[in-house]
Amino acid sequence: MIRLTVPSIEADDLAAVREVLASGYLVQGSHVKRFEAAVAERAATSQAIAVSNCTAALHVALLAVGVQPGDLVVTSAYSFPATANAIELCGATPVFVDIEIESFNIDPEKLAPVLDELMRGDRRARVKAILPVHAFGHLADMARILAIAKPHGVPVIEDAACALGAVQTGRPAGGWATAGCFSFHPRKAVTTGEGGMVVTNDAALAARLRALRNHGIDSEAQTTDFILPGFNYRITDFQGAMGVSQLAKLDRIVAARRERAAIYDRMLSDGDFRPPVVKAGHEPVYQSYVALLPSEWAERRPRAIRALLERGVETTIGTWHVPMTRYYRERYGYKTGDFPVTDAVFARALTLPLHETLSIADQERVVSEIRGAFN
Ligand SMILES: *Cc1c(COP(=O)(O)O)cnc(C)c1O
Repeated sequence: MIRLTVPSIEADDLAAVREVLASGYLVQGSHVKRFEAAVAERAATSQAIAVSNCTAALHVALLAVGVQPGDLVVTSAYSFPATANAIELCGATPVFVDIEIESFNIDPEKLAPVLDELMRGDRRARVKAILPVHAFGHLADMARILAIAKPHGVPVIEDAACALGAVQTGRPAGGWATAGCFSFHPRKAVTTGEGGMVVTNDAALAARLRALRNHGIDSEAQTTDFILPGFNYRITDFQGAMGVSQLAKLDRIVAARRERAAIYDRMLSDGDFRPPVVKAGHEPVYQSYVALLPSEWAERRPRAIRALLERGVETTIGTWHVPMTRYYRERYGYKTGDFPVTDAVFARALTLPLHETLSIADQERVVSEIRGAFN
């Protein structure tokens, strides 16, 4: 079976975890601190706060910038539902924006009028954040998004779940705006099993995030006191140790993914599939390699994915059309046509296997099996 993904877990990762387990000190401690320092360095931020997963990271980041019940948060229609769920979990309402067909990321041309419209009316005071997503490890157009957000004074939080190590014009994902959120789920390039991180350059925001993570405990006071009703969103120290050892391999893993992505690009160049588009100045990490099928093939996709699995090649759709999932559809009455590009990409995206242990022969087989399954 050629698997969609295989985490790169090696002897040093196992040894790091084992050492912490054997020490008897299991909860958040010095290894988590080292993990935070390593991620802050990669994101080029002064602060990093480790949390249980990226959904928790998004939740506390939104709360920390002041998102409250009744507020509005602008986000991408095409993402894993955790992005919008974090907004709903604050009691706020997501305002979805359609994506670009090239990058699968929020379309700045569509974001600008949506934001202008919101800021004109009486909803103005309720717009508390913009939450772009870096789809499949390709950065959203952060320079444009920040330029659009700035005159309105709305904070921007990056859903960089898939994008640790991705770069745009020399600037890494996560550190562009008010805060950035990473995931260390096994589907991402480096993993701690479950795990997440918020990064920021704002020390006061970081203090609020640390309190929200840890039962509301004031992280800066000498004696323990509780300054707000917080969560327990901590990670364990053995996950921290695994994070440190995984981070040390990030460059190697990302290089391997880029190399294999370039091989797929060449193999697909003369066919009907559109390989992922990389804009000038962007260096994606390819959390997933997502090709776009011709529109007339969309109908064949479910059967082809099943047939490929039977032939030992694991593929899947891209990610989700969040407004068209049942909860959002029923709550807000969205329908097909409200987000035409997301409609098309949701029907036509296909994720190919991508991981370090994938050989060129595997990639040849993947491409020829896919051609066979669709033709
Ligand atoms: C994986 C993912 C999440 C959720 O991350 P978890 O760590 O599993 O909570 C959120 N947003 C996006 C875009 C993701 O891909």
